[in-house]
Amino acid sequence: MPITTIIKDSFEKIFGNKERVLVVMAHPDDNEIICGGIVARLIDEGKKVRLVVMTNGGKGFQDRTDVTEEQFGKMRIAEQIAAGIELGLPKEENFNLEIPDGTVENTLANIERVVFHIRQFKPDLIITQNPFDPINTFSEDVHWVNHRDHRGTASIVLDAAYPYSRDRGFFPEHFTKFNLTPHTVNELMFSDAYAYPDVLYFDITKYFERKRSALLQHKNAFDADTVENEFLAESKLEPGKNFERLKYITI
Ligand SMILES: [Zn+2]
Repeated sequence: MPITTIIKDSFEKIFGNKERVLVVMAHPDDNEIICGGIVARLIDEGKKVRLVVMTNGGKGFQDRTDVTEEQFGKMRIAEQIAAGIELGLPKEENFNLEIPDGTVENTLANIERVVFHIRQFKPDLIITQNPFDPINTFSEDVHWVNHRDHRGTASIVLDAAYPYSRDRGFFPEHFTKFNLTPHTVNELMFSDAYAYPDVLYFDITKYFERKRSALLQHKNAFDADTVENEFLAESKLEPGKNFERLKYITI
């Protein structure tokens, strides 16, 4: 008989004292895959959530020849908004920066765009992608490339969080033109941290159906089998219970 471990839910420990959570992801479907259940739970518990997606995913049509990057990107942004609605995320808090897919570089211009959202939304914590590993390790046998846009996004978020959002010297037009104020955020969480011994687990059992409905909105990104057998399957860590996993760090 395998030993059943009781997985500890870290939701209250991490989010109990938070009011505002910013999620910054590379592509229109990353939020739902990585933390759709957490987002639904946060909103259900009265927290404010904003999603900022860097690209429209316009190059993700693989070998299809019936669409252009521009058309495909538009469809994917529409899916991002529809998926957010399934999670309870209002359209007004669901943004896409429309940086061309596959070109998310850590430039000052891109840092500025994330800093703008940090200074405007003033999050207590930011969820983003894995900045550490070019190769993600899911298990001993399962690895994948940590997409270049994911690495780029994570690295931009790190710089935006410190010190560019905090210091008045950076992007002063935010204060003069947009009436924003500096903001300091010290808590971050990263995806694709399965192999990290200190990865935290968040119970999303109650929000599993909403995660499924949200994922199924991304009809141009993946099919229903992939939703069931990959994205939802990985959350089934105990009989009848579902979890998402993130690494927490203070800076
Ligand atoms: Zn992605």
